[in-house]
Amino acid sequence: MNGPEIHVDFAPELTVFVPNDRRRGATALVTDGVSTLGHVVESLGVPLTEAGALVVDGRQVPFSHIPAAGESVEVRAVERPQQVPGAPLRFLLDVHLGTLARRLRLLGVDTAYESTDIGDPALSARSAAERRVMLSRDRGLLRRRELWAGAFVYSTRPDDQLRDVLGRFAPELKPWTRCTACNGLLGEATKEQVAHQLEGGTQRSYDVFAQCGDCGRAYWKGAHHDRLEAIVEHALAEFGS
Ligand SMILES: [Zn+2]
Repeated sequence: MNGPEIHVDFAPELTVFVPNDRRRGATALVTDGVSTLGHVVESLGVPLTEAGALVVDGRQVPFSHIPAAGESVEVRAVERPQQVPGAPLRFLLDVHLGTLARRLRLLGVDTAYESTDIGDPALSARSAAERRVMLSRDRGLLRRRELWAGAFVYSTRPDDQLRDVLGRFAPELKPWTRCTACNGLLGEATKEQVAHQLEGGTQRSYDVFAQCGDCGRAYWKGAHHDRLEAIVEHALAEFGS
């Protein structure tokens, strides 16, 4: 290319996306003179969901800014907590984030997830239709323009993924109010109402029951309760209001 030369400097949080030779400080880049700065940033590997303010020579510009020769561009990370205006905060997770989906539901965060891969077009259409923030580690999916909003999930470890999402969006936490299987809301239930779902030992041993209003699944303080309780306590200690 033979267009204007600019300098681009990425925030440390974003260097994971860019080529090695652009990870340390400002580097020169020749643009085509017509592409927007948003396009330029994206073409260097950074999903626009992850770009915060774009600052050119000290002044913030929109993604639609067309860079001119000699400009110094600073690409900042998104601010945390990130505000997502226009709808109650709710999420849609791609097929690879099943553990994270169950943990968010455990904490009462509205989280849509399907264990089968419905494909990027269907996912982005659902994000738009239901105004859900799309969470994914797939940069191609996060580039789709239909998305209501999106966020890259930086870690592959569920513990870190949960801290990442809670720290980034600061959702209201209401533990033990949602079905971890289907995202439905839980209501109180008597032992009689859920007896047909319980093994004999469970029936005798436990008295606290809840039931999903959508799928009917019964919940009680059973075998995995201590592990789940630990997840809830850690989340509340760090991110509870
Ligand atoms: Zn359910």
